[in-house]
Amino acid sequence: MSIYDPILTIKGIGPKKAKYFNQMGIFSIKDLLYYFPRAYEDRSKIKNISSMAEGEKAYIRAVIKKIENKKVKHGLRMSKVLIYDGQESIYAVFFNKNHMVKTFSKGQEVLVYGKLSKKGVYTQIDGYEMYRASEAGGNQKIGAVVPVYPLSGKISNTDIYASVKRAFEMVSSELEKDHIPASILKEEGLCPLNTALENIHFPRDKKSLRQSMYRMVFEEFFIMQCRLRLNERNNLAKKSCVVKKEEKIYELIDSLPFKLTKAQVKAIDEIMGEMALGMPMNRLLQGDVGCGKTIIAAICMANCAFGGYQSLMMVPTEVVAQQHYNSISATLEKFGVKTALLTGNTKKDTREDIYSRMKSGDIDILVGTHALIQEGLECENVALVITDEQHRFGVSQRNMLSKKGNSPHALYMSATPIPRSLAITMYADMDMTVVDELPSGRKKVITSIITGEKRKQLYDSLMEKVKSGVQAYIVCPLVEESDSLSLNSAVETYEKLKRLWKGSVKVGLLHGRLSSEEKEDTIRDFKSAKIDVLVCTTVVEVGVDAPNASIIIIENAERFGLSQLHQLRGRVGRGSIQSYCVLVCESCSGESIKRLNVIKQSCNGFEIAQKDLEIRGPGEFAGHRQHGMLNFRIADISRHPDILEKAKKQVDKLIEEGIRLESDGNSLLKNIIVKNGNTDIC
Ligand code: ADP
Ligand code: MG
Repeated sequence: MSIYDPILTIKGIGPKKAKYFNQMGIFSIKDLLYYFPRAYEDRSKIKNISSMAEGEKAYIRAVIKKIENKKVKHGLRMSKVLIYDGQESIYAVFFNKNHMVKTFSKGQEVLVYGKLSKKGVYTQIDGYEMYRASEAGGNQKIGAVVPVYPLSGKISNTDIYASVKRAFEMVSSELEKDHIPASILKEEGLCPLNTALENIHFPRDKKSLRQSMYRMVFEEFFIMQCRLRLNERNNLAKKSCVVKKEEKIYELIDSLPFKLTKAQVKAIDEIMGEMALGMPMNRLLQGDVGCGKTIIAAICMANCAFGGYQSLMMVPTEVVAQQHYNSISATLEKFGVKTALLTGNTKKDTREDIYSRMKSGDIDILVGTHALIQEGLECENVALVITDEQHRFGVSQRNMLSKKGNSPHALYMSATPIPRSLAITMYADMDMTVVDELPSGRKKVITSIITGEKRKQLYDSLMEKVKSGVQAYIVCPLVEESDSLSLNSAVETYEKLKRLWKGSVKVGLLHGRLSSEEKEDTIRDFKSAKIDVLVCTTVVEVGVDAPNASIIIIENAERFGLSQLHQLRGRVGRGSIQSYCVLVCESCSGESIKRLNVIKQSCNGFEIAQKDLEIRGPGEFAGHRQHGMLNFRIADISRHPDILEKAKKQVDKLIEEGIRLESDGNSLLKNIIVKNGNTDIC
């Protein structure tokens, strides 16, 4: 008997029920035992009808006087059972439970669990369950706090309850062996597996329930971390190329138009230091928007080129690919580094040419979009793959990039900081480099919030500013006008401003539906100040770098997430001029004002990310593609950050001690890590 046996082995579950359980994601006994209640109901009270208050739920001990089954509309079946508790009679009304009700007959003594409710002048019991009084002694559901399970399909709460009961009887001896190492249980004061599981389903009292929940939250974090990080250790067994720091790199750094910040230098050292070791690097580079991650990437790629290796850099949009290509090639060209650009819009001939030059080693750095992970690209000599704005990519896309070359070193760059709790769950398998400093001379962007009614004044004063040489972005939530949503579209705003300003201000338009040439031309014109005001969609969110722009107006700001707003605001304040961000709020609820105030008050991406996590929850924050990683049953990184830290520390320790899952003592832990499903996330 094993907890990994299929649920079909549980008495009372036949093939049909098993199928319904499967549809709920329950396949093994373990799945069932880990299918936790969503709530608990106190059914310890047996009451007289007369002593029940309206809306109160309780058990009533009574005798059946009459049973009526009726069909009501839409296939709904209603059973009315008249019960008498020795003092008073009342109807207990059940819906779609006629099968259950049919097993009872007049004169039987029963226990009815239900809620006293008033329907017009009638008072009735909304019946939930009914048992024979003779069975009550053996039925744990009476006189106890009972679990309420999340339900779907044809499985009832009683089905789950009864199956869990039986499952416990079957595997109780197995559950005595805990998969969390004894030393950790002791250090963290965790209750043992069997106690925890039993109390989660059938809580003895509130305290046991609390302790059991705690243990399970810890376990979920712990197993998740083990899975990611012990997997990482397997990676270490692989070899990657040894890329040493080349002397020429200092020359390159000296040639830059600015001095690197201390944080940038430290990041470069960390990355290059690890690449010199010969084991594949797997590193997340985090830093606030505008801290200068691109140049860090460029320097590391140049170092590869100097050592005779190639690099790939993948970015989410064509606009950014083009821009990175321009700036990286301009910086590195004079050092003999050859850079090329590959996007979905690259013409076939050029693409073929790039493929063959990558193969022959003629190109040192290839910057591109998703086009990089296409099959055609072969590049044996790639030592470093970089994913910029990595949250825009799915796990599998990032992994595909790492499959290019021969176990290359991988660097992932985040757009804005990731809250620590998210970082240590979703990115537990990565090492972390944090750039915690902005280039000097940057002024804090002054942020204000206005309502739509003040828009006219806003645009009037914008025109005055622009006439004095300032450049601005106006970000809209939509490309074109939509019938269903009353949001400002980029095209509409662009047309409106062109009419309003009649050529005295040069307005440009940028959105994702333009052709690559149009996008490229527009951005170039904006950078060279041929365009004064760029009306755009969130295509500019990622990475667009026009350091002279100093005003950003964000329309329908209430529509955006906090991290996204911070990222958008990061388009300005990149030079030494004082910059401004205006958040225009169209349908402003108190809630949205509260959110926007976070942006107004803080310019610190780490702080904002944390708030964003608290407000929107981890799933929203992580983006749908990475959802799977945060699918905990009861653990919640925003509610249990302390337990998360504790679990992390214990996993750190296991790794330091050089734990081997293969050794006998750890076979239970290994089983739960490997067999716990969800293995596709790694
Ligand atoms: P992000 O980290 O958001 O990707 P970028 O790499 O786009 O930021 O850099 C933002 C701007 O700062 C760019 O214009 C870049 O040239 C400039 N920059 C980068 N490092 C420095 C530095 N050490 N001193 C001054 N400016 C810098
Ligand atoms: Mg960037």
